[in-house]
Amino acid sequence: MTESRQIDSLWLGADLVTMRDGRYHIISDGALAVEAGELIWVGPRAEMPAFRPRHQHRFDGGILTPGLIDCHTHLVFGGDRSAEFEQRLNGVSYADIAAQGGGILSTVHATREASEEQLVASARWRLQRLLAEGVTTVEIKSGYGLDESSELRMLSAIRRLGESVPADVVATCLAAHAFPPEFKQHPDGWVDLVCERILPQVKANGLADAVDAFCEHLAFSPAQVARVFDKAAELGLPVKLHAEQLSSLGGARLAASYGALSADHLEYATEEDARAMGERGTVAVLLPGAFYLLRETQRPPVALFRQHKVPMALASDANPGTSPALSLRLMLNMGCTLFGMTPEEALAGVTLWGAKALGLQHTHGSLEAGKVANFVHWPLARPAELAYWLGGELPCTVIYRGEAQ
Ligand SMILES: [Zn+2]
Repeated sequence: MTESRQIDSLWLGADLVTMRDGRYHIISDGALAVEAGELIWVGPRAEMPAFRPRHQHRFDGGILTPGLIDCHTHLVFGGDRSAEFEQRLNGVSYADIAAQGGGILSTVHATREASEEQLVASARWRLQRLLAEGVTTVEIKSGYGLDESSELRMLSAIRRLGESVPADVVATCLAAHAFPPEFKQHPDGWVDLVCERILPQVKANGLADAVDAFCEHLAFSPAQVARVFDKAAELGLPVKLHAEQLSSLGGARLAASYGALSADHLEYATEEDARAMGERGTVAVLLPGAFYLLRETQRPPVALFRQHKVPMALASDANPGTSPALSLRLMLNMGCTLFGMTPEEALAGVTLWGAKALGLQHTHGSLEAGKVANFVHWPLARPAELAYWLGGELPCTVIYRGEAQ
């Protein structure tokens, strides 16, 4: 008789939606064995080896999915833009709002005014909305400080949030988000400052896991983005890019040429972009919240991404201006309804491909032995329900690193 292995916990009584290879790959009546916060065995209960669990959990049916991953957010910021939202709907023009100091600059102003504690506190409740609906990994970007100390303070706030919530929080430096008002006359001076001062400090203090930029005619040119990416490469930081949101500038191809983790938005991406991304394994992160709020009509080329085998992720893009989204699950519905993704693609977009967009695909994003024990129990019959229900909070039990929250 073989000796049974002692483990921390065993989870039984539900079907496993493993998301291995980005597909459902459902295991009926599955079992998950957890030791030290990691999945050590995943499979059908009938084939399970003998375990002696310290804790055994038995669900009464339902499904288990990997913990959801929101791979693109701007959750840390000062103030909010609800007043502008209301003004616009009361007929005030964008130009008048901008003339009053509105738009992104109002968020920059409020973020610069906020202490690190205030940034952490205001982001926490928003983050908790995401976590309550099954998110166990979230990326948060800087990019509203737009001066040296405020950018570093935002990143430090993101690190502090990560230490205080039951979720894996990934920090991205987006100092190249917009040009600060002080650099309006000499925008390249801001690129110099990002490359020569901010990124080296970010690297030296371990404040970010990746570097992002906003490539758009009203933001950074491909040449300016390339300077930021060259510096990131020199410092050994992976890159990602806001690209092709409002126009086609070749940003997605540029990102792919740097082996970027992801290119994000992509409404105006071309077949050439899709081919380049497919060849380099750059994930397409689709953001239906901003598409919806801006009432865009140009949809990202999902068919081209499929054709060129570009993994597609979905994210909330939670930000005060263009996507004040507090639900990743709503993005599943919008990815299907607005962009024509299948429910299986949408779920892969917030699990395995969301992980890949963060460089975490070897440890996160699917129910497989060797990965972190981040998973969610849903008392639902089918995984498509996650994309089907429009809004609202579905009942769920979130397990983070093997512990029920
Ligand atoms: Zn964004």
